[in-house]
Amino acid sequence: MGRRKRPATDKPKKRKKVTVKLLERSHAGKTTEPYRLMDQFINSKESTRHAHLKDAKIAIAWRFGWSQDADGRIKLGQVKKGSDLDREMHQHDFVILLNHEVWNRGFDAKCKLARMEHELCHCAVTADTNGEPKTDEQGRTVWRIRKHDIEEFPEVVANHGLYSDELEKFAQAAMNDADQPLLGIMEGGNGDNEDSKEGDSGKENAIGKENAVGNAKKKLAAEKKRRTRAKAKA
Ligand SMILES: [Zn+2]
Repeated sequence: MGRRKRPATDKPKKRKKVTVKLLERSHAGKTTEPYRLMDQFINSKESTRHAHLKDAKIAIAWRFGWSQDADGRIKLGQVKKGSDLDREMHQHDFVILLNHEVWNRGFDAKCKLARMEHELCHCAVTADTNGEPKTDEQGRTVWRIRKHDIEEFPEVVANHGLYSDELEKFAQAAMNDADQPLLGIMEGGNGDNEDSKEGDSGKENAIGKENAVGNAKKKLAAEKKRRTRAKAKA
């Protein structure tokens, strides 16, 4: 007697997870929060830091399910530069990916601002040999991904101090106004952990300047005191 075929069950088939969803610029007649923050920076009347992005077409997308890496860091955001094909197909010069879980459940307003500005800082114009903005054959701006100014481990700063111009500049910025809300944000955040494995945006190794500052803030304060004392002696 042959075995009877097992009846087909109603068990749903396991479907592949979708990890990215493009965010609409407006919802229910209102500009969605990430776009609103981005626009604030780009069209700011107080600062021209991001004014070069006025004509850039920047899309924002949610990224779901970014998990911790071996060092316990979670990627909070990432920028990808549009390739010629991307620009041909949907005109996007950049796409900012935001960690959906962290943005919506972990970030307060300050963290969101800091993260958005961080991602915008990555979006830069390529310069030609005369230092002018480079354009392509179709007259479009050629963009690039700007790297972090500092990629350093906190223990190196702790043990060796501000040994490079970049670290010096960074510490100076932090010391100029140690009470700046931004510093608090960086410390409260989950750290920056971006890479560009999926994109063509160039290499970005994890530790951001945020971690360096967050962990070395006390060292910097001590360094400031030391310098003030040295100056007083001189
Ligand atoms: Zn970054």
